[in-house]
Formats: sequence, C-alpha cells, structure tokens
Amino acid sequence: MPPPVILDLDDTLANLCTPLAEVLNKNATTRYHPKDWKEFNLAKLYSLSDEAFFERIVQSKILETLELEEGAQDLLAVCSRLRAPVVILTSRGYHPRAEALTWKWAAQKGIANSISEVVIVPKGQKKSACVPQVLEMFGVDYALFFLDDHIDNVKEVNEHYNVYCPLLMRRPWNANHRYPNNVTHLWQATTRLIAAYEGITQRPTDHKNIVDAYFGRRST
Ligand SMILES: [Mg+2]
Repeated sequence: MPPPVILDLDDTLANLCTPLAEVLNKNATTRYHPKDWKEFNLAKLYSLSDEAFFERIVQSKILETLELEEGAQDLLAVCSRLRAPVVILTSRGYHPRAEALTWKWAAQKGIANSISEVVIVPKGQKKSACVPQVLEMFGVDYALFFLDDHIDNVKEVNEHYNVYCPLLMRRPWNANHRYPNNVTHLWQATTRLIAAYEGITQRPTDHKNIVDAYFGRRST
C-alpha cells in the first residue's frame, strides 16, 4: 500500500468561503467578497473574537451543507485507483461534533468510501503537529502528499515533516505569499499526486491508464 495522502477539507476539497462570506457579511460593518480576503485570519478582518467567529460557523450549520469543489471527486477517485489511503486532516477542532458531521457530510456527498480516516486537529494545536499521528496510523515514516490552503500549514509540513509532496492550494488569502509548490485547481493537484506516486514507485508508465481515464472524464 502506498503511503497516505493527506488532504485538507475546508476551501480545499469543499467550498467553505462562499457560504461563510454570507454568514460573516450579515450584520457586518464592512462586507467582503472572498476574493477580497487577503489574510487567513477572518475573525480579525471582520472584527470578531476567535470565539465569536467559530460560534458563527457552528450555529449557522454551514459545514453540514458544503459543496464539493470541482475536481474533488476525481482527486479522490485517483487516490482509490492508486490504492493510496486518504486522510482528511481538518482544523475543525472548534466544532463539538466535527468528526461525526464530517463523516455524515462525506456520506451524503458520496465520497465516504474514498476516505480512510478523518483526523480533527484539536483546537489551538497546529495542523502540522498532527502529521506524525497520521503516519503512525499507517505504520509508515512518510506521507505521499499533503494539500492545504493555509500557507503556514504547508510551510511547516515542508520544513519539519516527512511528506514527499507538500502542495499549497492557491486562494486569495495566500496569494500574497511566495510558495513555489502550488496549484490553482484540484485537477492540477491530481496530476501532481500522480507524478508524486510515480516518483516514489519509479514506475512512470504503469499509471498512464489512470491519467488517460482522468483526462478522458474531464474532456466529456
Ligand atoms: Mg482549509
């Protein structure tokens, strides 16, 4: 079995920013579109305490109804084809029912069977610090892939942990940061994942059928 693929959920596989903007713009002195979010700290942008910010997310129940980003199902399907276990590593520790609601949502979206583990980063803890726990789950010493939209998470994983391909999902809130290993769309992440897999297996032609199948679906 290949080493695990670690994927972020909010604003990586799923679109949080659109419904979150609606929630935050209600009663806000200044309203913003997600494309105007230039920093990751939205509580600060909307002049909310961290507690009030997280409470708005929990009370609005938006996490329960997020839409998948375009290409998310293809990315997960390729992981399944490669037999690479998928770990959803998400900083939803502020939500009291984070793990249960994430699994329920994944089932509703038809992707639960593509996910091996959901790991919730405890509130106040760094996401990167959970990587050793993920590796231990699978008895391996490195992960194949790590995809996240928070620049700090990707940088820290790149610097401190053993991940073959740490990749940044470009979003407005990380666009001002220089990080060369980035993609702007999930289909690019999928091709990078396949390249990473080929890099560790040294079998570049074995998975041509997967690439063909993937691009075949995209062109229809
Ligand atoms: Mg995220």
